[in-house]
Amino acid sequence: MSRPPRPDRSADASASRHNGGKDSGTIRTLKSLGQHFLADKGMAARIVDGADVGPDDTVLEIGPGRGILTDILLSRAKRVVAIELDRGLHGLLEERFADEPRLTLHHRDALKFDPATIGEPYKLVANLPYQVTTPLLFHLLESTPPPDCMVVMIQEEVAHRILAQPGTREYGVLTLGVALRAGAKKVMTVKPGAFSPPPKVRSTVIRLTPLASPPLPEGEQAHFMRVVRAAMGTRRKTLKNALGALKLPNETVLEALDQCGLDPQVRGETLGLEAFVQLARALPSSN
Ligand code: SAH
Repeated sequence: MSRPPRPDRSADASASRHNGGKDSGTIRTLKSLGQHFLADKGMAARIVDGADVGPDDTVLEIGPGRGILTDILLSRAKRVVAIELDRGLHGLLEERFADEPRLTLHHRDALKFDPATIGEPYKLVANLPYQVTTPLLFHLLESTPPPDCMVVMIQEEVAHRILAQPGTREYGVLTLGVALRAGAKKVMTVKPGAFSPPPKVRSTVIRLTPLASPPLPEGEQAHFMRVVRAAMGTRRKTLKNALGALKLPNETVLEALDQCGLDPQVRGETLGLEAFVQLARALPSSN
C-alpha cells in the first residue's frame, strides 16, 4: 500500500504560526524556511547590479520574501518569475504586485519548479533560503538549459567552499561539483545587520556563470562526482587508497593514475578540476 503524500507543512505555515509569534516588522518570520529579509535597499540594488539585469532580461527569483529584490528586478527587467514557498508571503506579494503583469508568482517549493517552463533564457537573482542552498544551486545548474548567470546571496562559509582553491581546507566536493558546471566569483560580503532578523552567519553574494560547454558531457557528470567523492572522502589519505572506495581492481586504479600522470601518493584535495576530469575519464564507470 502506498502512503499518502506527506502534507507540506512548511508551505502551509501562515504568518500566525511563525516563529512562536516573534514579530519582525509586520510579518513574522519562519526560521525553518531561512527567512532573513534584506532590510537594506542599497544592498538589494547591488545584488541586482551583480547580474547586470537590463530591459531584455527575464529573471527567476527564488524566495522573494517581502519583495525587496522583486521590486528592483521589476524596475529593470523585462519579466520576473518568482517562487515563494510560504503561503502567507505569497499572498502578501500577490497583493503588493497585483498591478504588475510582468511578474509571474508561484506558490511552490523551488526544488520542485521546472525552470524549463520559463520558456526563454533567464538569469537567476536570489537571496536564497540558506538551508537549501546546495540542492537549489544544483537543481538549476543541472537543468537544461541552465540560467545564463546566477547571482545569489548565500552563507559565507558555503561561498568559501565554492570559491576555494585546491589544497585548502574549504576545497572539496562542493567546489568541484560547481566548477564542473560553472565559473564562480565573489560579488560582495553582506553583514548580518543588513537583514531583519539578522542571521547568525555572515553572507556572501556570488555570481555563477554556467559553462557553455562543460568539460564532461552530462551523462558522465555523475561518474565524475563519484570519483571526486571517493578521492575527497577521507582527507589525508593518498589518492590511491582513497579511490579504493570505488571498489575497482587495484591495477585498474593504478593504470588510470599512470595514464593521467598522477602520483598514487598525492592527496585528492590537492588536485584541480582538470586533473579530476582526466581521472574520471580514465577510470571505468561502474554503471
Ligand atoms: N528575497 C527576500 C527573502 C529572503 S529569505 C529578501 O531578500 O528579503 C528566503 C525566502 O525563501 C523566504 O521568503 C522563504 O519563505 C523562501 N523559501 C524558503 N524555502 C523555499 C523553497 N524551498 N522554495 C521557495 N522559497 C523558499
